Amino acid sequence: MNVVIVGGSVAGIRTARALREQGYAGPVRVVEAEAEVPYDKPPLSKGSVDGDACVPLITLEEADDLGIELLLGCRVVSLDADRRRVTLDDGAVLPFAHLVIATGLTPRRAPYDVAGVHVLRSLADARAMRSAIAGAARLLVIGAGFIGAEVTALARAHGVDVTLVDPEPVPLGRAVGRDLGERLSDLHRRHGVETRFGTTVRSLEPAGEGFRATLDDGALVEADVVVVGIGSEVNVGWLAGSGLLVDDGVVCDEVGAAVGTVGIHAVGDVARWAGVRVEHWTNAVEQAVCVARTIARPDDVATHAPVAYVWSDQYDWRIQLVGSRDVARVPDVVEEAEPFRLAATWRDADGRVTGGVTVNWPRESLRLRSALARGEAS
Ligand SMILES: Cc1cc2nc3c(=O)[nH]c(=O)nc-3n(C[C@H](O)[C@H](O)[C@H](O)COP(=O)(O)OP(=O)(O)OC[C@H]3O[C@@H](n4cnc5c(N)ncnc54)[C@H](O)[C@@H]3O)c2cc1C
Repeated sequence: MNVVIVGGSVAGIRTARALREQGYAGPVRVVEAEAEVPYDKPPLSKGSVDGDACVPLITLEEADDLGIELLLGCRVVSLDADRRRVTLDDGAVLPFAHLVIATGLTPRRAPYDVAGVHVLRSLADARAMRSAIAGAARLLVIGAGFIGAEVTALARAHGVDVTLVDPEPVPLGRAVGRDLGERLSDLHRRHGVETRFGTTVRSLEPAGEGFRATLDDGALVEADVVVVGIGSEVNVGWLAGSGLLVDDGVVCDEVGAAVGTVGIHAVGDVARWAGVRVEHWTNAVEQAVCVARTIARPDDVATHAPVAYVWSDQYDWRIQLVGSRDVARVPDVVEEAEPFRLAATWRDADGRVTGGVTVNWPRESLRLRSALARGEAS
């Protein structure tokens, strides 16, 4: 009984590690398209422009010690679910007893697919983007989601002038609500960012050594470097013709089994468990542990009842989001000025706590997360 894991980022590597932790003794292979030793993604948009941001998820020695075979620089191009095998780009065929799909996402470029424009997903992307920002005077960031906001902060710390554009009136409004979104707008402005919210980049074209963007209102933005952070697409092209059900990710049941299959699971950003697909690190780790346990201990199938969690570092703010938040409702907010910290808690119509957002208050975030997990939040 062997396991083949496709994708060697956090979901894939954590699955491999968890298999060993759960006592799985069979062969485990991780096939990863990139040639890099597996690394973590959150540091790519954090820290400083001068830093390399490479944080390994596993070393070659560790993989060896754990009996995890890493096939790096190998892309899986197809899956034959009936004959239980995958084919690699060099023509090699790998049979499997269990397959774990952990192929994650690719950043969306359209409609800004102009040569020289940066996106950020891989270590190579991060290295290219950091070196471009380090040599730039003016940066245009399109998209003020988590990645766009973190890149903006990274560039401001390096003294680069940044224009940040997003069609929404405030950043992350759908995740944190309008009021906290306003405060994030203020945070950017206090750090000297030119914010252009509620408008889009209508067109982007090369201009001299850099770029010229035209906004919806006709305003022009000139920049040496452009970073686009407008969302991603699931890496499922290699599953075409496999018979697997794909609909905004690999469609899985509540413990990650691809529906209509036996012994095929999906984890992390590419996986849609029980109708929900999540693009956050902690979710990838929790799903990996759940699937590894199901494979290692088939008679004791894990249940999965996570409390959603994501963090983001923007300037001197650590923002942590927990649980679910109906942002149409007004949260209870507690805040302190010196040093600044804030906790916003959302309740449902019956007054039950459903989730929260904290800024620079990790203990409160942890308390809320634990209480929600125990069903004791009040
Ligand atoms: C810059 C950045 C910052 C982030 N910061 C945060 C944060 O602060 N907090 C947070 O909660 N989350 C953050 N995230 C999100 C988090 O990193 C992701 O949720 C996590 O990486 C998902 O892991 P994954 O293994 O599912 O997918 P991915 O990390 O996308 O990895 C998928 C892997 O599969 C490989 N692959 C794809 N197709 C194939 C194929 N056909 N054959 C072989 N290999 C293939 C890819 O090369 C890739 O290595 C950040 C993401 C990025 C990009």
